[in-house]
Amino acid sequence: MTDWTKLVPIPASINQGLTSARQATMLGLLGNPRSSYNQLCQPVTNPKLKPLIESRDLGPFRATGLRAALDSLTAVMADIKKAQPGLHAMLGTAGMLCARNQRGSTSAISNHSWGSAIDITIDGRLDAYGDGKVQAGLVEIFPLFNKHGWYWGAAFGKEDGMHFECSEQLIRKWATGSTLNGTKETPPKPLLVLGDRGPEVALLQERLNAALNLKLAADGVFGHSTFAAVVAFQGSHGLTPDGAVGKKTRDALGL
Ligand SMILES: [Zn+2]
Repeated sequence: MTDWTKLVPIPASINQGLTSARQATMLGLLGNPRSSYNQLCQPVTNPKLKPLIESRDLGPFRATGLRAALDSLTAVMADIKKAQPGLHAMLGTAGMLCARNQRGSTSAISNHSWGSAIDITIDGRLDAYGDGKVQAGLVEIFPLFNKHGWYWGAAFGKEDGMHFECSEQLIRKWATGSTLNGTKETPPKPLLVLGDRGPEVALLQERLNAALNLKLAADGVFGHSTFAAVVAFQGSHGLTPDGAVGKKTRDALGL
């Protein structure tokens, strides 16, 4: 019989096309679950968020979380049951909704605060945090979480193998439909910062070139020269020159 709690290396290719949901996205789309946080689970106090949360039987365990996340988890669990019924029966949870800061942080809000992340146990056992290894059962199920748009915490800077959360991409997809809260909303455009890549950065570079008469390569890589150009643009437009392209800088650039 397979020992699903055996510790194995983290596979090389995980979370393809998925990123962890950004705090700005969560706050922008769902609001702040409460006004202050510490390291402990505290209740959600935001009256707009509370009606979006419920408890549900997910087969081998019950969980309380964001309704849209529970709907998706139901589909993930059905896939796991079909692929590995024995493992499915051993799954449990160490918590889903829990309004707190990220471990060891005094400012970053955990995605558990919105009930869009879940910690999974196997045979009642938690995967040890930050040891760079993960339970074999987690390696077996992560592709099914990924398939449904869930990001696996094994890829965090400090490995968090038991943690799965609705990815930035999944949250945004829900927001453009009416899945999240029954009303259509336009998701906020993401903050662009040093180190970001992609077509949005290339467009930013083109706009900076036009605005400042520069010759930045529009290569889609937000490097130090792009950062310096953003700071210069902000400085000359009465914006906080922090080099981060948020709503005000976007508006000023026509992005
Ligand atoms: Zn977690």
